[in-house]
Amino acid sequence: MKDMTHALPDGRIFLAGRWEEGGGAPITSSFSHDGSENLTFNGASREDAERAIAAAKAAQADPAWRDLLPHERAKYLYRIADGIEANIDRISYIQSRDTGKTVTETRALAGSAVGTFRYFAAVCETADETLTTQRATALTASVHEPIGVVGAITPWNSPIASDAQKLAPALAAGNAMVMKPSSWSPLVSLELARIVAEAGLPEGLLSVLPGSGREVGNLLVEHPDVGRIAFTGGTATGRMLGEQAGRKLMPISLELGGKSPTIVWDDADQELAIAGILFGIFSSSGQSCIAGSRLFVQRSIFNGFVEKLVAATRRLKLGDPFAPGTQVAPMINHEHRASVEAYIKGALDEGGEILCGGKRPEGAEYEAGAYLEPTIIAGLANDAKTCREEIFGPVLVVLPFDDEANVVAQSNDNEYGLACGIWTRDFPRAWRLARAIRAGTVWINTYKQFSISTPFGGDGASGMGREKGREGLRVWQRQKGIYADLTGQPHPWAGITTGQE
Ligand code: NAD
Repeated sequence: MKDMTHALPDGRIFLAGRWEEGGGAPITSSFSHDGSENLTFNGASREDAERAIAAAKAAQADPAWRDLLPHERAKYLYRIADGIEANIDRISYIQSRDTGKTVTETRALAGSAVGTFRYFAAVCETADETLTTQRATALTASVHEPIGVVGAITPWNSPIASDAQKLAPALAAGNAMVMKPSSWSPLVSLELARIVAEAGLPEGLLSVLPGSGREVGNLLVEHPDVGRIAFTGGTATGRMLGEQAGRKLMPISLELGGKSPTIVWDDADQELAIAGILFGIFSSSGQSCIAGSRLFVQRSIFNGFVEKLVAATRRLKLGDPFAPGTQVAPMINHEHRASVEAYIKGALDEGGEILCGGKRPEGAEYEAGAYLEPTIIAGLANDAKTCREEIFGPVLVVLPFDDEANVVAQSNDNEYGLACGIWTRDFPRAWRLARAIRAGTVWINTYKQFSISTPFGGDGASGMGREKGREGLRVWQRQKGIYADLTGQPHPWAGITTGQE
């Protein structure tokens, strides 16, 4: 990739259509391949967030936006999609610098953001209101209206896709949005703000405020003028924000963590299964909510299959996110790598056996980066801490299973319920399992495939609510029933007072 250093944002935050110095604590974005600094800048403060919310409230209430018909709102979304598409090189550069993800992956994420804006533009201009079945002497309708000011709080692992999944339907629904990206990956959301501004969206309808979760994020959840929050992040944070939203009686969607099972039967196409499993756990260095981090292999093929899997894992190419062919890039930063290494040590303490990886790769090119070898651990029971908790790194645990009942029980014996992979040639069995396993998404003979038209979300500790799909628009609106009298007559009860008894 040609030098794109100039593409990095300049360190100002996007507050109600203006670029300003943030009033909050400094944030540093670094490139985790070599530790070099991308940018240090001042994040947003609570006061910045207060101003953004006030501006959003005014911009949303302006008839120029509030009364805009859906097909006119859709035009902005199409323009934003075009802007993202025209800037895919910049976006993927910024996101790879910011997160350490491979450029192949960040290009795909930017591409998905284009699709998301176009999809919600189309949904917006084709979402019909409903005349409900008439049951009395009134015409009855169910209609949808914008919520007003809404907030998005996002994590560091796939910012542009996460941002788009929230911003596109929220704008399509007629809202104004204040976004709070993670301080570990603040840059690409600011680039999105630049594109949105260029698309001509009226000032105030979007603010992007990188800053502290406790300060800026918390204010968004607590502020009386914010009517809905979409949160993606860790389960502990999600639980806390869910409680706060509950006290305020404000809708909140929570896209949280996972410990997703992948199941391999003795009749599976093993070559396909291995490719899918490696992609499922080791792409993004395992820093993916839907990572297939618990692998169940039928006991009759366990040893042979795991041996082939380990051999294939050893062949994965680790390295610079910008180098062609890199499959496993560095983790987001050294701090997060240390937390994953602590899990690996914990697995050994629990009696686990490391089949491959478990350490930092050797060689000068890896020295300064937050690299960790793809790791496979065996010998633990499903109730071990290593098998229960989300590690959020390139760590796979492998476990045997005996039959259908046993693998359903083991898969479901975990507080998370985000995703599941099933590898078998027996389709009826795959379907039975897909229905029996508690997960928001199930993949049969594939993994980590996405479509904007298919709702996504988790159950249990993986969260509540869904994003994407046609209904992904409606969660950003208030639903209202309207009754319009068709008789022109006083209500019979009123006859008492009008003397018409
Ligand atoms: P995190 O919970 O630490 O942070 C997420 C966001 O919440 C950040 O912007 C952070 O600043 C903010 N935040 C933190 N404390 C807050 C508070 N008290 N009030 C308001 N906001 C606060 O999560 P993370 O480490 O950034 O992301 C990794 C997690 O996200 C993993 O658990 C992963 O599984 C999950 N995730 C889930 C999905 C999904 O769709 N289910 C997708 C991506 C990531």
